[in-house]
Amino acid sequence: MHYDFNHEKRMSTSPNLTSFLINKTFINRNLMALKITEECINCGACEPECPNHAIYEGGIEWSVADGTTVTGSYVLLDGSVVDASARLTPLSSDTYYIVPNKCTECQGFHEEPQCSSVCPVDCCVLDPEHQEVIDALIARKEALHA
Ligand code: SF4
Ligand code: SF4
Repeated sequence: MHYDFNHEKRMSTSPNLTSFLINKTFINRNLMALKITEECINCGACEPECPNHAIYEGGIEWSVADGTTVTGSYVLLDGSVVDASARLTPLSSDTYYIVPNKCTECQGFHEEPQCSSVCPVDCCVLDPEHQEVIDALIARKEALHA
C-alpha cells in the first residue's frame, strides 16, 4: 500500500486547516524518493509533470542534464561522478521509471508529488529503499536548478 498524498485534503474543507494538515503530514512521515511499480500502464501522464525531468519512458537512457541546469561533473547518490550530459542506463525497460538521483518529492515546486497526483492507476509510490531528509531534497532541487 502506498502513502495517500490526497487523504488530508479530502478530510478538510478549510483551506487553512488543509494547508496545516498537509504540512504536518509531510513533517511527520518519512521522506523518500518515489518509484513507479510494475502496475504502470505506460500512459505517459506523469513524465511532463515532473519539475526535475526525473521520469523516463522504459528503455530510454536518462541524464542529469535533461530538464535541469546542471553542466559538467555531478555526484550521484552512490558517490560516483558522472558527466551531467552522459546518457545513462535505463532503470526499467518495460515501464516508465523514476531516477532517484533527480527526484525531490517535488520539494521547492509543489506541495505534493505531481507524478502521484496524475497517475491514473496509483503506481507512483514512495520508495523505502531511498529514504531522504528534507534538507537533502531541498539541496538536490537547488543543485539541479542552480
Ligand atoms: S515526486 Fe516530483 S520530482 Fe519526484 S518523480 Fe514525482 S514528479 Fe518528479
Ligand atoms: S502516470 Fe502512472 S501509469 Fe502513466 S506512465 Fe506514469 S506511472 Fe505509468
